[in-house]
Amino acid sequence: MTVHHASKHAGDLELSCDVVVIGSGAGGAVLATELALAGRSVIVLEEGRHVPAEVHGRMRDSQSLRHLWRDGGLGMAFGLGGSPSVNLTVGRGVGGSSMLTGGVCFRVPEDVNDAWAKEMGLSDLSAKGLDPYYSRVEEAVHVEEVPEHMRSRSTSLFAEGAAKLGHPLEPTRRNTKGCNGCGRCNFGCPHQAKLSVDLSYLPRAMAAGAEVFSDCLVTHIEHENGRASGVRGRIFNGPGRKPKGRLRVQAKVVVSSCGGLHTPVLLKSSGLAGFGSQIGENLTLHPGFRVFARFEEEVRGWDGAMQSAFTNHFHHERLMLMSIFIPASIIAAQLPGAGPNNRRELEAVPHIACFGAMVHDDGPGTVRRGIGREPIVTYRMSARDKVAMFRAIRLTAETYFAAGAKVVHLPVLGSGPVDADGLARFPLEQVSPTKIECGSQHPLGTCRMGTAAAWSGVNANGRLWGTENVYVADGSVIPSSLGVNPQLTIMAMSTRIAERILDAFPRHRAQA
Ligand SMILES: Cc1cc2nc3c(=O)[nH]c(=O)nc-3n(C[C@H](O)[C@H](O)[C@H](O)COP(=O)(O)OP(=O)(O)OC[C@H]3O[C@@H](n4cnc5c(N)ncnc54)[C@H](O)[C@@H]3O)c2cc1C
Ligand code: SF4
Repeated sequence: MTVHHASKHAGDLELSCDVVVIGSGAGGAVLATELALAGRSVIVLEEGRHVPAEVHGRMRDSQSLRHLWRDGGLGMAFGLGGSPSVNLTVGRGVGGSSMLTGGVCFRVPEDVNDAWAKEMGLSDLSAKGLDPYYSRVEEAVHVEEVPEHMRSRSTSLFAEGAAKLGHPLEPTRRNTKGCNGCGRCNFGCPHQAKLSVDLSYLPRAMAAGAEVFSDCLVTHIEHENGRASGVRGRIFNGPGRKPKGRLRVQAKVVVSSCGGLHTPVLLKSSGLAGFGSQIGENLTLHPGFRVFARFEEEVRGWDGAMQSAFTNHFHHERLMLMSIFIPASIIAAQLPGAGPNNRRELEAVPHIACFGAMVHDDGPGTVRRGIGREPIVTYRMSARDKVAMFRAIRLTAETYFAAGAKVVHLPVLGSGPVDADGLARFPLEQVSPTKIECGSQHPLGTCRMGTAAAWSGVNANGRLWGTENVYVADGSVIPSSLGVNPQLTIMAMSTRIAERILDAFPRHRAQA
């Protein structure tokens, strides 16, 4: 069985199944697989294209940005109340954002589990309660530790500085098998070594009878009196991949797995987010920052796994430092100056090391429907998140100086390179947060799980409040910011929600 390229299908599509899953990313693929393995007839509808794993290596970075990254990677959460605007990126295609990850896999820190269980009343989401779901996912996607020899020089220099300053690095765990450290993870793994859900889950779903359709945009969930009967949408099968055909799928259960930005859009446009609803609220992002450091030696940070080590030493300060090395072309675009000044910076790219930091944020942000396909996203950074942000940036720069960096480039718009003395004098904490270059790949919480509709979007089983058979399984159900990369948790939660759907719709009912 393979993915159906609906773009090649002439005309309309009318289908029916037990469960229709909208979106084929980390959340949707896992849920669809679990339900298909349990014998349910499942259809997965994905708006994006299907780019088979063997094609990734033939695509230029710029091509991958066009085809696999929503909006070519230029999405934005607009900062409110003196907050930074955040470049917000997600994937679009069969496999969703899972295709673009650095492969990093974390379980939720236990204090976050405790807050869910004790403060939010989600007692099943304790570390013990989630353990079997995590274990199932970790086995399916082959989570393994990154060996030290696969660290790039960019990371090992940071590790030297971190050890001197007393916050040593630990190896990350990633969903890889046979990784050769080519560092291209964010554009799709060319070696099929990163076990994103299009490789690890969807083939199993299809082998169990699920049907997966690319190029199908769901625009509406059909429902009456809280009971959904299916979905409708458009097929990108017109000239130039324009929408032409109509799509209709009848189903006994509808699951939205469109991700933290698009699940709220779909629920709102389907009339499933009534007055006072929490859908689209409570967005958290893990705002992230990169610091570039120039060394005397050649660093060639592109040789090695792009995300191989981290330190959680500052968890109590609500931040995490994580290795990252982005393509040299993107580093070049972030270096300052014009003309000869900029040329000098560009010549130094092989000497540049890079490390990232992210804030375990309060947010919140909001997702609203826009005029076209994409939502309008706004983000208000809390006062303590701003403190954590400046601390994270300064700490990252100081760590590189401890390793012998000559200068660093701070993520402050308009600033030039600073040396160690310059950093000590630099009034970073007085800079307006609106001048900070900030990015995020982790939109979470916009349909968060909870115990009452007054403050959440879905109940503890993932069912949308006020409906009998509409579920959500993706980043939007995560109850709060995690402080660690989310894919493993999204997959574990989807495994659990699939189990709850099987309980709520036992075979005789699903077949009724
Ligand atoms: C560049 C990058 C690097 C990352 N690195 C890591 C990492 O190393 N570790 C980690 O833990 N996390 C990482 N993440 C985050 C992780 O990938 C996501 O948190 C996770 O994949 C989100 O899963 P999801 O199911 O919520 O949404 P997605 O995986 O984004 O899937 C949603 C899918 O739904 C489709 N869709 C949306 N609306 C519709 C509609 N109306 N009709 C049909 N289809 C629709 C979308 O096209 C998309 O394919 C990274 C993300 C990015 C973008
Ligand atoms: S480093 Fe290269 S081989 Fe390893 S997972 Fe990333 S893209 Fe694949």
